[in-house]
Amino acid sequence: MLYADIVLPLAQPAYTFAVPDGTQVAEGQAVAVQFGPRKFYTGIVWRVHDRRPDFKRIKSIHRVLYDRPLLSERQRALWEWIASYYLCSVGEVMRCALPSLIKPSADSEEEFFKEAYRPRTERYVALADELRDRTRLNEVFEQLERRAPKQYEALLEIAAGTDETTDSSDLSGEIARRLLQADYAVLHALARKGYIRETEHPRTVERGEARFRLPELTPHQTAALDALRAQYAAGKGTALLHGITGSGKTEIYIHLIAETLAAGGDVLLLVPEIALTAQLIERMERIFGSRVTAYHSKLTPQRRTETYLQLNRSEGGEFVVGARSALFLPLHRLQLVIVDEEHDPSYKQSEPAPRYNGRDCAVMLSRLFGCRTLLGSATPSLESWLNARSGKYGFAELTERYGAARPPRIVVSDTLRAARRGERKGRFNAILLDKIHAVLERGEQAMLFQNRRGYSPYVTCTECGWTARCPHCNVTLTYHRVGERLVCHYCGHTEPVPAKCPSCKVTDVVPAGFGTEQIEQELAELFPQARVARLDRDNATSERAYNAIIADFAARRTDLLVGTQMITKGFDFGGVSLVGILNADNLLNNPDFRAAERAFQLMTQVAGRAGRRDDSGEVVIQTAEPGHPVIRQVAAGDYEAMARSQLADRKAFFYPPYARLTALTLRYRDLALLRRAAGALAERLRARFGRRLLGPMAPPVDRIRNEYLLGLLLKIENGASSARAREILREELQRFSAMPDFKNITILADVDPL
Ligand code: ADP
Ligand code: ZN
Ligand code: ZN
Repeated sequence: MLYADIVLPLAQPAYTFAVPDGTQVAEGQAVAVQFGPRKFYTGIVWRVHDRRPDFKRIKSIHRVLYDRPLLSERQRALWEWIASYYLCSVGEVMRCALPSLIKPSADSEEEFFKEAYRPRTERYVALADELRDRTRLNEVFEQLERRAPKQYEALLEIAAGTDETTDSSDLSGEIARRLLQADYAVLHALARKGYIRETEHPRTVERGEARFRLPELTPHQTAALDALRAQYAAGKGTALLHGITGSGKTEIYIHLIAETLAAGGDVLLLVPEIALTAQLIERMERIFGSRVTAYHSKLTPQRRTETYLQLNRSEGGEFVVGARSALFLPLHRLQLVIVDEEHDPSYKQSEPAPRYNGRDCAVMLSRLFGCRTLLGSATPSLESWLNARSGKYGFAELTERYGAARPPRIVVSDTLRAARRGERKGRFNAILLDKIHAVLERGEQAMLFQNRRGYSPYVTCTECGWTARCPHCNVTLTYHRVGERLVCHYCGHTEPVPAKCPSCKVTDVVPAGFGTEQIEQELAELFPQARVARLDRDNATSERAYNAIIADFAARRTDLLVGTQMITKGFDFGGVSLVGILNADNLLNNPDFRAAERAFQLMTQVAGRAGRRDDSGEVVIQTAEPGHPVIRQVAAGDYEAMARSQLADRKAFFYPPYARLTALTLRYRDLALLRRAAGALAERLRARFGRRLLGPMAPPVDRIRNEYLLGLLLKIENGASSARAREILREELQRFSAMPDFKNITILADVDPL
């Protein structure tokens, strides 16, 4: 008798099922199983063996799904590594790695198979055999031309297509119906008369030839590319490409991609947020055509499943552009992984488990799969920078913009001084206003960056200091002018703005601080002739809404674009000659050890949007601290100075990249019990890790959706065995969860938190 250990999409270990006689199962194969009293799940066969487990009733595998394994051995190794590194179960990796339709689960067998994926087919039409005869065809044409001109047109089109392909045998002359001009009724009429036949085939994607027209590289770019090639050849699995914005990093990617595809290898290009990189996909499609496959969470489940299964059958030469989840695609000949904007925090999945970082997994792929991994950025993360500078990664850099483009001129403008001198209107210093005027007069465009959305971060009472707070979360509510509402950015709670201060009942409450909405409104008032648009999470709610805003700006239907983080990434607009950073201070003053690094990255990235075509680009940074070292480093474009000073701080205080952090968060409705639980866990962990354990402490937001939060932080310095630390931690967490007193307490582990 054979048994199979099967991974189910649950936070549980693999579970053993019997393999029915006559059923063939391979490791990596998907199967339907019944688990619990009624539930049907898709599971993945992890191991087949003949050791009978010691529980009594062993269920059998219900049915094998799909004609081949969904996962290769290497993919299983990746899942296992992620589960072990990020302290979760392989089942939780499964939940996030496979598209939903590929792995249905349901309360009954019937439901299960109703939900299961069915390949989508496409309809084809061809001339009926009878009309293969020229004379007969001409008769029909004559009739139709007089009596049914639309049918005549359609049949002409079909006959023309048939001609071209008559020599290819069985699918001869078939044309995908979507390629025809004719509408459905016309084709239906032709079919009824027996002039055409219709067939249905699974949808397939044709891959074009692997010959591409590549841009010619500049000498600097060639040198960087050669350096990368040499270091890979010398055995580096991962390399960092540090190149300022507009220096041609993407051109270097393109060359590496082309040579990998030509050799029959697969390529994975990861981008931080796919919705934000439509331009990159278009650029890749112009060169690689139908080779490009997009993969991200905005696609329909059907599309994602189709893509997964199609790649699983591929013979190589695939090029996937995707968000972090594309790491899990079955690219069996993967030879090159590129992580664009590798410093971007959105590579990290914060919720739910596995809380993995796509960039770090890409580096792991080079070890597990033996492929080349390239990390690219204008502002690398300090982790990658240190790895590159210490020789662990390969390294190349591009220090000049391509062509006539020069780095933008950066002006630092002191907000306090401007206010003292009366040179400030609303949230704008006079110098920024003057430059916006000039830009509009020249018919150019400007981008204005404010890292908070909404109208203003909070409303407050000038009399008693009351501020509006969320009743479910310990945070202030954000004021949105649209609908005059207060919104919680953590749980979505909304309420109207109170007419009078609910606390002292004396005065009105007023907005304090400011967000993108307020900037947008002030611009509209200050520059009534300008066309102003805004881009943030509140109005770019769908890919379509997002694309429309971008398309308008790209086509210069709008002049001024206000936005959050969203406008800092991956854009290449020729018309932008000015970038304004409205308030650098709230970037710098974040209570986070990465605040300075992040502030440098954000400001440099947004500055890089100015003047990509020529040397007229300008950036104005408004700040109350013009002498702040990070402001100076941004103004000087000096990444290395930032890296040196930040690394010194990190080293002194044992922060990453000189230590690894694991954050534990305990969550529960009852604060007293939560405190007791956190105290007990802290004591256990302290007994094993000593002073490497910090806490319990309340996180900055210590109540969300009516649950209290308490945190513990484990800091393991470089040089200590982090694998051993993970083992101990896993053990202790399991022990803790098994304690009856604390079994209802939710506990989350976040390895390498951001
Ligand atoms: P990065 O990815 O480093 O920001 P890009 O690769 O997007 O830089 O290059 C910036 C601009 O310069 C793009 O419009 C790109 O087409 C152009 N460019 C860069 N290198 C070349 C080249 N070798 N030949 C032609 N155009 C180039
Ligand atoms: Zn809330
Ligand atoms: Zn008040």
